[in-house]
Amino acid sequence: MSDPTSIVTPTAEPTTAINLEDASGTNASFARQQIQTVYEPEINIFVAAQRGDLDTLRMLIESGKAKATDRDDQNITPLHWAAINAQLPACRYLLDQGAEVDALGGDLVATPMQWAARNGYLYVIQLLIAHNADPTITDAQGYNTLHLVTHSSSVMSLLYLLHQPISIDSRDAQGHTALMWAAYQGDALSVDLLLKHGADPNTRDESDLTPLHWAVVKGNRNCIRKLVEKGSDINAKTREGKTPRDMAVELKSLGAWKRALEEGGMLEDGTKKLKPLSERNTKLAIFILPTIFFYLIFTTLRVMPWYTGILLAMAEFFAMHHIVTRVLLNSASYSDGVIQSPYYAGIIFGSLVWVAYCWTTRLVHQTSHHAFAHLMFALAYGLCVYNFIRSITLDPGTCPKPANDGELRAIVEELASEGRLNGQTFCIQCMARKALRSKHCRICDKCVARHDHHCPWVWNCVGVNNHRQFILFVSTLVVGVILFDYLTYAYYSTVNIASEPSSTCLLPDDLCTITAYDPFLFSVACWSTLQLLWTFILLASQLYQVMRQMTTFEVSNLGRYGFMGGRGGQSLASQMGHRHQHAPMGASEDGPAPAHAHQHTGCGGTLLQLTGLDIFTRGRAADGLARARKASNPFDLGIIGNCKDFWTAGRELGVEYDRLYDVPLEGFREARKRREREEEDEGRGRKPKSHFMGFSLSFGRGSRSGYEPVSQV
Ligand SMILES: [Zn+2]
Ligand SMILES: [Zn+2]
Repeated sequence: MSDPTSIVTPTAEPTTAINLEDASGTNASFARQQIQTVYEPEINIFVAAQRGDLDTLRMLIESGKAKATDRDDQNITPLHWAAINAQLPACRYLLDQGAEVDALGGDLVATPMQWAARNGYLYVIQLLIAHNADPTITDAQGYNTLHLVTHSSSVMSLLYLLHQPISIDSRDAQGHTALMWAAYQGDALSVDLLLKHGADPNTRDESDLTPLHWAVVKGNRNCIRKLVEKGSDINAKTREGKTPRDMAVELKSLGAWKRALEEGGMLEDGTKKLKPLSERNTKLAIFILPTIFFYLIFTTLRVMPWYTGILLAMAEFFAMHHIVTRVLLNSASYSDGVIQSPYYAGIIFGSLVWVAYCWTTRLVHQTSHHAFAHLMFALAYGLCVYNFIRSITLDPGTCPKPANDGELRAIVEELASEGRLNGQTFCIQCMARKALRSKHCRICDKCVARHDHHCPWVWNCVGVNNHRQFILFVSTLVVGVILFDYLTYAYYSTVNIASEPSSTCLLPDDLCTITAYDPFLFSVACWSTLQLLWTFILLASQLYQVMRQMTTFEVSNLGRYGFMGGRGGQSLASQMGHRHQHAPMGASEDGPAPAHAHQHTGCGGTLLQLTGLDIFTRGRAADGLARARKASNPFDLGIIGNCKDFWTAGRELGVEYDRLYDVPLEGFREARKRREREEEDEGRGRKPKSHFMGFSLSFGRGSRSGYEPVSQV
């Protein structure tokens, strides 16, 4: 097979001129002046366009020394040079001066838009399209703008282009579609995006290769998986009669191939791997299983001597895990798919069941003189169970998606024209606008408003709608466990223990006789006390964050992204849209969904993740907190206000988090005060409406720190 990279590498890629502004911001004007005086003869309209030197451009055109339609000796126009250097104002000026938008030039006979597309310059493309540039023109290599944008791996530019009039399955000179190129480059995000926009996964190029063949060439398992899931034919044969799997063997990417199918829940021949139970019954069984196994484990500890009991109990725990992962989920490893299943919620449920069992069968009767403690325990227990179930069943705050293609197109167009179509404002997985403070959860596969974290223990995301229930669940859990321990202690102090201490027991005699008296209760108490350790830390950090008006996600990512994900002053990166430089998949928070990112974290990492303590190690929490102390948080209302806002899910601030896209210029607090004043003026009798829209964004001094719209170059 010919090496496709030789086709991609442009034979005559125009050299990107150095941008003086970038090189030395402060000395730019000095440098420019220097060039003007020393190298006066060399300054022509082409160099000025490369540098985005508007003054010189204006001077040259107004003095009649040059025209926007001039061409240099390679037949290249100033607009080409401005486009390939992302000089947006220069592009705009040249177009206003009558530059030909679809001028063909250079060795590749390409348009300015094709030059910009090679680098994925979203806003240049947007500007040119607004001036009626034609994306369907092909250059000398047979690439149209869609192919070139795909080559750039700039996923936001690709998204923008897919909403322009260009056929998604258009072919280059060798019959390759954009999907084949994305698959060949191992660009899982682009592959996903193209498939979502209806690219055909079974097209064939001149050598009869399908996109799946090309994905195997690169050996990216996410690309392979997405294509197979979208119906790419696993048995498609090339002209030489090779299936994608044959090619995987040949190119030594069989591992990726197998893993991709495994993750997609398929056997190697592409048929669906069967689970022993239906989808619904699998979930039910996984949820119930821990309750049964906990009974076995606690009973084992009761009937067996401690030294065999503990070993056997551990074996039973492992057996439970084995049944869940390898049998019920039918997966090839002990970690795949578990996080999506209700397994951890089942563990909490099982623990709750046996705590209640011990309480009703032993503690209530034996320690009836602790009436108040019993009452409090019953109250805490009831609230805990109720809020546990509510945390699981409530929608955490799913962000709305556009109802139809027209709406989606309008959103993309609006964000692009405002110069802020990027991963912070648009979710490429949901194909929807991303609300402030929301995050796309890979496990739930949706954007959750005011996302805190995904909690496997409640088998749900914790977001704006169930965060209150979650905190109540954790706090009543902590209180409940403490009361349970207290009652257990009271129980052991009242009962009359007569048995002789065992000679094999390592514990002090008192403790030994206690455990020997009722090992079942003792094991349940130990198990729940174990949970106390991490739930207590979790509760403390949650309460602290509520008071600071910050989410777990924000704390761990503040150092990386700035406040609440706002990325101010990132002109070049924003110009490139949301660009993925072939980063290892899963390296980015916004990256594609490698379903099992946790498997790389190792045992300790998984443990931290499960206990929610990984916020202290993930991202750069320390940096984040340090930064939070300095930067002002536009959502901060002070401790009392923050708690109120938390409790009312945003009513204190007056926002609906699932559709909050901008911070009002004057800040939330001012906006709310003004709104209240207006409402008062309008008439006291009227009930204040809970709304966010209707702010005037035009006056007031800003407290939008971190939310300045990214500069529009
Ligand atoms: Zn999303
Ligand atoms: Zn989630």
